[in-house]
Amino acid sequence: MSMKELWEESVKFHGHSCPGLAYGVRASIIAMEKLNIKRSQDEEVVAIVENDACGVDAVQIITGCSIGKGNLIIRNYGKQVFIFIKRGYDKALRVYMKPMPRNEEEGELRKKVFEKTATEEEKERFNKIRQERIEYLLSAEEKDIADIKWIDIEEPERARIFNSLQCEVCGESFMETKGRIQDGKIVCLECFRYKE
Ligand SMILES: [Zn+2]
Ligand SMILES: [Zn+2]
Repeated sequence: MSMKELWEESVKFHGHSCPGLAYGVRASIIAMEKLNIKRSQDEEVVAIVENDACGVDAVQIITGCSIGKGNLIIRNYGKQVFIFIKRGYDKALRVYMKPMPRNEEEGELRKKVFEKTATEEEKERFNKIRQERIEYLLSAEEKDIADIKWIDIEEPERARIFNSLQCEVCGESFMETKGRIQDGKIVCLECFRYKE
């Protein structure tokens, strides 16, 4: 798939087009190239993302690493860092997406747009600046937008399958490791009450 197709797929999944998503698209494409990743190799690739923002959706759609499969781990340090581990490689790939240079005009417009005081022209101008940022992020040379390193990292455990227990209060089934015992009963976390 071309960059354009990957971008369009990501926008469809994410629901809107934004610079944050473009960070995730570029980071994912870098990973695919450097680690020779094809989409949806079950658990062959694990992604550790250091933010929980827009770009994470691109990681899910492009690399196939997802929360549900357990091969997408969020370590929210609020950083545009994306780490990819592929089984069989002795180093992990760490991609740091560099911040875009500050743009004062954008900062002011953003404030107005969020406070809903922007005029139609200001909104248009704001969208235009964002669009330019997206285009830049998608077309710039790798070295201008990303710092790429090979790092040592421990392989995360493969997703494990646990037994189920039945809660003695609500009767619903839940994962064994999430259980508590309260007043001699096995209860789920939803029914468990912390005592003061
Ligand atoms: Zn977004
Ligand atoms: Zn319960």
